[in-house]
Amino acid sequence: MARSNFTNDFSWSKSRHDKFQECPRAYYFYYYRSWGGWEARAEPEVRELYVLKKLSNRYSWAGSVVHDAIRDVLLDWRAGRAVDGTKVEEQALQLMRDDFRYSQGKGFWTQKYRKAFSGLVEHEYGEQVTNEEWRQNADTVRTALRWFFDSRWPELARGLKPDQWLEVDAGASFSTFTLDGVKVFAIPDFAYVEADGTPVVVDWKTGKVRDGYDEQVLGYSLYLSQRYGLPLEKVRASLVYLNEGQEQHVRVDVEAMEGFKARFTESVARMRELLADPATNTPRDASAFPPTEDSTACARCVFRRPCGREAAAKEV
Ligand code: SF4
Repeated sequence: MARSNFTNDFSWSKSRHDKFQECPRAYYFYYYRSWGGWEARAEPEVRELYVLKKLSNRYSWAGSVVHDAIRDVLLDWRAGRAVDGTKVEEQALQLMRDDFRYSQGKGFWTQKYRKAFSGLVEHEYGEQVTNEEWRQNADTVRTALRWFFDSRWPELARGLKPDQWLEVDAGASFSTFTLDGVKVFAIPDFAYVEADGTPVVVDWKTGKVRDGYDEQVLGYSLYLSQRYGLPLEKVRASLVYLNEGQEQHVRVDVEAMEGFKARFTESVARMRELLADPATNTPRDASAFPPTEDSTACARCVFRRPCGREAAAKEV
């Protein structure tokens, strides 16, 4: 197999920042040491980290099934196609059954499956999850999709004219912008322009209502403003909690944006301090990325075995 021409360029995203905050060692494994693990000639350690980093937990898996289903529904409506909500729900649950079987057999070590799902950390580490807990996870998907189809969003989306649609989960190769010379990933779930010209960016959530998501949608707002040349102060950002049936509007104004940019600058500076060569995004030695002291983070971590924390994680 030919060597890949990809280069591991430095970029920033809210999820990268979160990983860095939670555990510098996990950040190192995820963004540096696992690089190239897809290649046939990869060292076994690199290969292992690469397979592990692609695993989800059951909550993010449920969230991703819901996001993908809603993305496909919106794309159908955008193209003028009819959608049957019951079928969407059945297909999502069937997909979960297939995913579960693949993951339970740990197929991720030997076979490719589907791009958006590579297996579950619960199966890899033999975590004790009851059938009832798995059922609840499927219920999260069912409830979220049912709420979505009964909400104001289907009518709103079907009523948009072609030039009112901006984006539907366009993916990492499309949804980026540059801030202070750094490539920033910001992939909104849904973005459109209201009839009065107000740009709206929407983020679907399957978890409980909680603080801490503002930063993510502020990034989406900056992205939208840059990509489409829209005035930033006009953008309206919405967090839609599908399982709680609630919507939250996030203030996008000069003060909020200044706060976002200041935190972004600090985050980038701290990440760059750990580079031996910022020009090539080459990290310092692993010892510069200390493991966290927080064992609850280890208990959730996909890297707990190569990190030597598997036994400790079981005691949490
Ligand atoms: S097991 Fe714990 S210390 Fe090790 S990478 Fe994961 S979170 Fe960090």
